[in-house]
Amino acid sequence: MFRFEEPTWADKWFYYFQRAERILKEAEARRGQKPLNKPSRSQYISQHSFLNTEIRGGVGNDGSGKSFAGFSTNITYNEHPPCIVPFATLEKKFLDDLRLEIAHRGSYIMLRAVVNPNKYVSVTTVAEDENGEVELVQIYNQDDRRSPASIMPEGQVFIVKEPYFKTTSGGGTSIRVDHVSDIIFLDGEDERIPEKWRPRIKLLARRSLDWKDDGNRFYKGKQYFEAAQCYTKGLEIVEPGSASDIILLLNRAQAYLELGYNEKALADADKVLSYESLNQKALYRSALACYEGGDYESAKARLVKLLKEFPENKNAKDKLLRTFQRLREQRTGKYEFLKMRNEVKEWGDKRGKLDCAEYVGPVRVGDAGDKGRGLFATRDVKFGDLLLCSKAFNVCHKEAAGAKIEILFNLKAKKGQAGTHSQLVQELIQVLYHNPKKAKEFYKLDSGDYQRVRGGMVDGLPVVDSHLVMRIMLRNCFGCTRLSSVDDPLENLFREKSEVEKMIAEESPTGEAEGSGLWIMPSYINHSCWPNSIRSFLGDLLIVRAARDIPEGEEITLNYVESDFGVQKRQKSFFSGWGFNCKCTLCVIEAAEPQEVQDRRQELVEKALKFKVYLKQSVEKTNSGIAPMITLIKGIEATYFKPEFIHPRVRLLSPTNILQTFLVRAERPPDVFFLAKQALNGLGFKITTKGGKVVIERYGYMLYPVMNLFVHVITAGAMMGDLWTATLWRNAALKVYEVLAGEKESFFDVFGRALLQAGVPLD
Ligand SMILES: [Zn+2]
Repeated sequence: MFRFEEPTWADKWFYYFQRAERILKEAEARRGQKPLNKPSRSQYISQHSFLNTEIRGGVGNDGSGKSFAGFSTNITYNEHPPCIVPFATLEKKFLDDLRLEIAHRGSYIMLRAVVNPNKYVSVTTVAEDENGEVELVQIYNQDDRRSPASIMPEGQVFIVKEPYFKTTSGGGTSIRVDHVSDIIFLDGEDERIPEKWRPRIKLLARRSLDWKDDGNRFYKGKQYFEAAQCYTKGLEIVEPGSASDIILLLNRAQAYLELGYNEKALADADKVLSYESLNQKALYRSALACYEGGDYESAKARLVKLLKEFPENKNAKDKLLRTFQRLREQRTGKYEFLKMRNEVKEWGDKRGKLDCAEYVGPVRVGDAGDKGRGLFATRDVKFGDLLLCSKAFNVCHKEAAGAKIEILFNLKAKKGQAGTHSQLVQELIQVLYHNPKKAKEFYKLDSGDYQRVRGGMVDGLPVVDSHLVMRIMLRNCFGCTRLSSVDDPLENLFREKSEVEKMIAEESPTGEAEGSGLWIMPSYINHSCWPNSIRSFLGDLLIVRAARDIPEGEEITLNYVESDFGVQKRQKSFFSGWGFNCKCTLCVIEAAEPQEVQDRRQELVEKALKFKVYLKQSVEKTNSGIAPMITLIKGIEATYFKPEFIHPRVRLLSPTNILQTFLVRAERPPDVFFLAKQALNGLGFKITTKGGKVVIERYGYMLYPVMNLFVHVITAGAMMGDLWTATLWRNAALKVYEVLAGEKESFFDVFGRALLQAGVPLD
């Protein structure tokens, strides 16, 4: 049986894995066999069109689809690597030659789509070979921005290199194409197309101008991929260096820029510059490609050259100013955070990307012993210092329209996740496929025990191993939100979940469906339950700041699972998630505690958290909860024996937040004030008033809800009449906020209303 070392997930998930495992086992029992009783051609086609009309986006016959709690699932059973040899070395096979659960190494198959495709997690079609046999074909990881019919229209002839033939969970069969580099789409004139499938009427010879016009039409209709394809066709028939060649290259560069294929755009623009070194459009587009790729020095050089020759070019001037700004950000780590935050808030259901540079602060990647690589401080760092401001390699926010919330299973990696992870993998594959230089940084990341194959270029295209990409994603991605700081957090704290959120929460091991993204440098930071840095999100940026003073050479750590689980549950989730056991100070202390102490604490915390339901009820009800909550909190406190700065009372944080809300409702500022101070003390903070200043002498355990404690001290203090102290505390809170939210500029947006209501001045 497929055994989990650490079954931390809900029983339902475990059951689901078992079911999937059974299907896998049955499939493997048929390895090498020829399928029996295959449906007829007309059965294949009618089944395909039935699915197309009946269950749009629903069940795929391999079980991918709405088979799990109303969410589509993406399941990886096997991890066969991509083809890494050229097409010319492969031998032709027919459908009748295929055997189940085998990647047919050294072979290829020539197929033609006989229907228009369906789209589930994959683009699915029915295709025939030259003998007229048909089979289901599932093509994964294609560019989601294109319609399935544009990827694989009826009549499309294509080659699958080293086809993988499999059993579907419905008992049928299919050819599953996981790797984008394993499929070759043949256009009408390709000589590899069998004679009988060639168009009978020869198309009239087309001129490059026709291709350019077609391309421009697509471009206007925002079909950039198709536009680029047309320009490519035109480029195949023009004289190199001719006027037509230059126009087509420039147009294609522009289409590539729209698609985010920056490396290809740069190559086209540079080709033009090799003919005409001062071509204005080529200089500009090459600068844009450099800029979008984060190479601001090159962008600057190109724009300066352009403006020397064409000083009136307004776009270039504007871009140069922006480039200077980016270079400044890169150098200093100084950003216009408030402006950026407001921009992110405007994104709504659109995808977004902030126009800003990446900052790498006083950190470097180094050897972290048995943890592999890690990130280390290159100098002494102070609390609050910016360590990294990293731009996403790719990110899928769940707010964005079209973000697919799916359940992703990888049976080989023994991982399942709810959220946008499935979409993230698909998008990463596209980024890697079209930007091979950028891909190098990605491939350096850890992929666990996955056996990598040689990558590089084959048949002029980069080999992308989809399974490797998924493994790297699973190990290195961050669950993320668009903003770390929500406006009105005190009100949001116990916000009701939406219906969809509730459904997902019930089905997901983490209790939440997340957006997800991949950031290269932050991926090197190892975990600690009591970390010395904090990460936060701002749009597509991941910001890391020091959460205490860090001496030169010390390893930077982050808390991967910002939760207040007990030590055993934490260890399980680290092991199943990332394959390590945490040996941080907090884990060492808590693992050494007697079991009965751990159990007692757990029991009391669970009891206390049950009082959360009171929050939806009357003031009388919350009032009635105050006394028992105080008893519970005292009880939890009594399970800690070491001083707070050695063993912070992390598990008191959630119960404290609940009791605080009860006390606020009961209008008892002195108790709110006292409890908040006590809780901060419990987390290891040492805060004193010295010489007319509130000084944080020792920073304690940092987690976003800590901010609520600070705000409670300030607002309750002010309500009790000590406006002076409240104002001093406000300044200290601002510093803590900066670390937790990534920037301090939005502090008053977030907490201003609460402060004003309590009479605390904002400046
Ligand atoms: Zn730990």
